[in-house]
Amino acid sequence: MTGPLPVSAFMTLALHDPQWGFYSAREPIGTRGAFITAPEISQIFGELLGLWCVQVWRDQGRPAKPRLVELGPGRGTLMSDALRALRGAPDFLETLEVVLVESSPALEEAQRANLFGAAVPVYWVRQWSEMTRDRPLFLLANEFLDVLPVRQFVMTERGWCERVVVESIDALGFALSPVPVPLVTPARRGTPAPGAIYEISAAAEALVEDTSKAVAAQGGGALFIDYGHAGEGFGDTLQAVTEHRPVDILANPGGADISAHVDFAAVAESACRGGSRVWGPVAQGQFLHALGIDVRASRLAAADPAHAPDIEAAVTRLTAPEEMGRLFRVLALTPAGASMPPGF
Ligand code: SAH
Repeated sequence: MTGPLPVSAFMTLALHDPQWGFYSAREPIGTRGAFITAPEISQIFGELLGLWCVQVWRDQGRPAKPRLVELGPGRGTLMSDALRALRGAPDFLETLEVVLVESSPALEEAQRANLFGAAVPVYWVRQWSEMTRDRPLFLLANEFLDVLPVRQFVMTERGWCERVVVESIDALGFALSPVPVPLVTPARRGTPAPGAIYEISAAAEALVEDTSKAVAAQGGGALFIDYGHAGEGFGDTLQAVTEHRPVDILANPGGADISAHVDFAAVAESACRGGSRVWGPVAQGQFLHALGIDVRASRLAAADPAHAPDIEAAVTRLTAPEEMGRLFRVLALTPAGASMPPGF
């Protein structure tokens, strides 16, 4: 590392450096990985998201050649569960193609193994900007926006100064860039006290605006699911996790997952600018209940009574307010004239 790095550049290096980056080499996700995500908790999560797409597609008059895209598919579990559930919708599958947007070659390998033998063509691209814009777009993104880099600014007596990562003699540390920047913060944030931290993810906002343009122009729908907040007040939400435990952000770059809470107000505003209709955000628990998680869980439990307690525990983990049910939120996009999607 050389010189002070904005937090966003530090995050990008720590996550994506081709040799040392967290997502570049090891297996980051799952019970053996650093953290566990909703699709790894229960197959029902991916199944319901797949069925959500079918419903939105039917509500829009079954446009030909839909494309199902997932951003940051991890181990490919969500897509594999979604495609299994879609076997019940052969009309949707008939002309469907799947595209996985994955920056990490190691995770692409895991996804290829998981989706081997899929009933529809599956393609990979490294980044969203490589997507062609010719088909109705059904986009799924679970815990994707939170890994996009954030910048942080701290209110000082000189004004907003960017928080940077510096290398001192034997360790990394945080420092402030000496020259203040003329930032205007949204009114919903309120008045910053000295020391307040303002966090922005230009990458998440730009990405959501662009996907919103694509949904508006091509038809379809998008679901962004993530942990986050309503964009009020100020605060530092950057966190590092390894072996399912929070760790110091600077202690082991590349060895821990680094992410930040998603500012759903900012993301929803970006989505509006892109021209789609924005739904939510609603709490993940409410969304999954509305999509029928309880009915699906009872069926699975009846078919496999030995695992009924595990199935019930997984549903609780995904939906209970004190678990993932409230912190995680769901934002949907549809074309402007489309009807209300399921779950909102
Ligand atoms: N959605 C998955 C994994 C979430 S972890 C799940 O729920 O289990 C974040 C994923 O996004 C990983 O697959 C990571 O490699 C990928 N990723 C991170 N930044 C990316 C970027 N800029 N472009 C494409 N993929 C990215």
